Amino acid sequence: MKQFVDQQKAFFNTQTTKNTSFRIKQLDTLQAVLKENETLLNEAIYTDFKKSEFDTYVSELALLYSDIKEAKRNIKKWSRRKRVSTNLLNFPANSYIIPEPLGVCLVIGAWNYPYQLSFAPVVAALAAGNTVILKPSELPSKTSEVMAKLVNGNFDPNVFKVIEGGVSETTELLKQNFDKIFFTGSTKVGKIVYKAAAENLIPVTLEMGGKSPAFVTEDCNLKMTVKRMMWAKFLNAGQTCIAPDYVMVHEKVREEFLELAKAEIEEEQFQFENHNYVQIINDDNFDRLNSLIKQDQVYYGGNMEKEKRYIQPTILQNVSFEDPVMQEEIFGPILPVIGYDNIDEVITEVRKFPKPLSCYVFTNNKKTKRKILNEVSFGGGAINDAVMHISNPKLPFGGVGQSGIGNYHGKAGFDCFTHYKSILDKPTWLELPIKYYPHTNRKLKWIKRMMKFQ
Ligand code: NAD
Repeated sequence: MKQFVDQQKAFFNTQTTKNTSFRIKQLDTLQAVLKENETLLNEAIYTDFKKSEFDTYVSELALLYSDIKEAKRNIKKWSRRKRVSTNLLNFPANSYIIPEPLGVCLVIGAWNYPYQLSFAPVVAALAAGNTVILKPSELPSKTSEVMAKLVNGNFDPNVFKVIEGGVSETTELLKQNFDKIFFTGSTKVGKIVYKAAAENLIPVTLEMGGKSPAFVTEDCNLKMTVKRMMWAKFLNAGQTCIAPDYVMVHEKVREEFLELAKAEIEEEQFQFENHNYVQIINDDNFDRLNSLIKQDQVYYGGNMEKEKRYIQPTILQNVSFEDPVMQEEIFGPILPVIGYDNIDEVITEVRKFPKPLSCYVFTNNKKTKRKILNEVSFGGGAINDAVMHISNPKLPFGGVGQSGIGNYHGKAGFDCFTHYKSILDKPTWLELPIKYYPHTNRKLKWIKRMMKFQ
C-alpha cells in the first residue's frame, strides 16, 4: 500500500494534475466508464442487495453525473487564483489566493449507496487536482469488485486506484501518509479514522450518520407530508444516512398521519418483486433491526423473512424517547411515530441526542419552521420534504458534531480537497521605513492610524 501511495506522490509532484484540462479528462473518463457499464453496475448492485435499475439510476448514477457536470462546468473558475484587496499597511502590493490540490487522497466508502458514496468524493478530489486511492465498502462485494475492475482497468493507477478490502486493509491504508482522508460511514469507525489521521496530522472529512428527526405540525399539508416521507423513509429499505429516523407528529393529526402512512405504504407496494425495495444488507443488520421491533408497538408491518433478508416497512406507535429503538440510528425500514402536544418539549428531547445529519420539518407555519431551524442543530435538511436536499449540488452536504466534519458536493466538494494558499506579492520599488528601528512614538502613531485602530 505504501508503494501505491508513494507512486501517486511521485506522480502528483510532476505537477500534471495542476492542469485543469487533465482534471477534466479524468472526469470525462469516469463519466464514460460509468455510462458504458451501467448494465454491469446494475447487475452487481442487484446481486448484492436487490437494488433496482431505477433506484440505482435515481439515487446513485444520476447524482454522480450531476456532480461531474457541475465540476466540469466550473473547474476552470474554481481553480483560478482570486485577487483580494490589500490593506494600507502593506502598500504597495497585490494579494491573492491560489487554490492548490492537497495531494494524495484516501476515500473510504460506505455500503448503502456504494457507487454514489464512493465516487462522489472522488469526483471532487479529481476536480480539485488530487490523486485518489478509493477503498469501497466490502459488504456489497459485487459492487466493490466491479468498481475495482472498472477503475483499475481504465485509469492510470498513479491518478486513481481502487483497493478493495475490509477492516485489515483499511487499517493498513490508514497508516499511510495521505494528504487527505475522506471517510463515509458510522460514527464508531469515524472515530478510528480520525485517530489514525491525527497520527500524521492528516486533514479529514468525516461523513457519518445519526438519528435524523422529522417534525410534523398540525398545520402541514398532511397528505403531501406522508407521501414524501414514506418515499424517503423506505427508499433503500431505510438504509439511507439521511432518511427520517423517527417522526414526531402533533397529537391533533397523529391518528390521521398513521392512517395515511399505512395507505401510502400499501399503495407504493414496497416489494423486491416491484423493484422498489431492497434487502437488508446482511444478517447482522437483519438481527439488529429485528430486535428493535417490539410487536406491541407495531401499528403497521412488522413481518420479515430472514433467508431473504426482507423486513416489511414497519411503523411503530406509542414510542417514547426511552425505547431501545430511540437509542441508536435505526438504518432500516422501521419508523417510530411519537405524538406531541408541545413543540418545545420535543425540541428539548431532540437536542439531547448528538447533532444529527439531517432534520425535516413538515409545516405550513412560518414561525414553527423558523423556530426549528433556529433551535435545532443538524447537518442539512428540508422543509416539507426529506432526503431530496442531497440532489442539489449547490447545497453543501455534510454533518455537524457526531454526524460529521466538513462538507462536499459541488463547490463544497472542490473546497474540501483544496488548500487555499494566501500570497502577499510585493514589488521592490518602495519600502516604507515605518516598521524598522528606531521605534519612535511618531511611527507607532502612524501604524495605529494605518491599521485604523484610532
Ligand atoms: P462502517 O463505519 O461500518 O463502514 C464504513 C467503512 O469503514 C467501510 O469501508 C469499512 O470497510 C470501513 N471500516 C469498518 N470498520 C473499520 C475499522 N474498524 N477500521 C477501519 N475501517 C473500517 O459504516 P457502514 O455500515 O458502511 O455505513 C453505515 C453508516 O454510515 C451509518 O451510520 C450511516 O448513517 C453512515 N452513512 C453516512 C453517510 C453520509 O453521507 N454522511 C452516507 C452513508 C452512510
